[in-house]
Amino acid sequence: MNKEKFIELSGVEITDKQFEKFENLLKSYNDWNSKINISAIKDEQGIWEKHFIDSVVGHKYLKNPAKKRVLDLGTGGGFPLLPLSILTPSATFFGLDSVGKKLKVVQAIATECNISAPNVMHGRAEDFAHESKYREKFDRVVTRAVAAWPTLLELSLPFVKVGGELLAYQGPAILEDLEKFKNLEKKLGAKIINVVEEQVCGNSRVFVVIKKIKPTPNTYPREVGMPKRNPLK
Ligand code: SAH
Repeated sequence: MNKEKFIELSGVEITDKQFEKFENLLKSYNDWNSKINISAIKDEQGIWEKHFIDSVVGHKYLKNPAKKRVLDLGTGGGFPLLPLSILTPSATFFGLDSVGKKLKVVQAIATECNISAPNVMHGRAEDFAHESKYREKFDRVVTRAVAAWPTLLELSLPFVKVGGELLAYQGPAILEDLEKFKNLEKKLGAKIINVVEEQVCGNSRVFVVIKKIKPTPNTYPREVGMPKRNPLK
């Protein structure tokens, strides 16, 4: 991979310095992933395309993240958090995950690669979303490959400030789900404002942007496990 190819594949302009950070990220991520299994994607091309470029493409739909509070819900090994943080170092990033070892790796990688250290939140979204420190306190929430659509909305929208936005990285099946669960976001105080389908390195990806227009009723998210076990309709 070189910088020009990266820009061509992602459609996002990056500087030489930022590209260098991605090269370092690849090395550091590979080292950690061989020690502690955090992701099934292990080949270099797969990491460039499915983790780095895929994460970066979403940046186009993340309106003005500079200086904002951005939460990556279910960050896992740090995607899209780490690439987005390389692109917008002035934003304050938070990574939430229920698996502590993954968060430790994300922090270690950020330090090794000189990426501003994310604030980590170790635990369940269902719990954090009811803490006043976090409820409706994020300008942007991003989330990739975390849960089925109704579960995802219930877990993530409570974190978004009124006036803020949720960006969901999705596959093409979301188009059917958006029909099936039409207006579910309204129940949670939000409105879908943009749905964009893009080919990213040969894969069909769909970016869904949802704006929070009023507070989410306090009953959501329901207790741990319920959003998944008994999804909203
Ligand atoms: N976003 C990353 C990881 C996806 S795997 C990527 O795209 O590569 C999904 C992650 O979400 C897992 O690490 C899992 O621990 C976390 N997760 C799922 N449900 C959660 C919940 N209710 N609360 C906190 N983390 C959750």
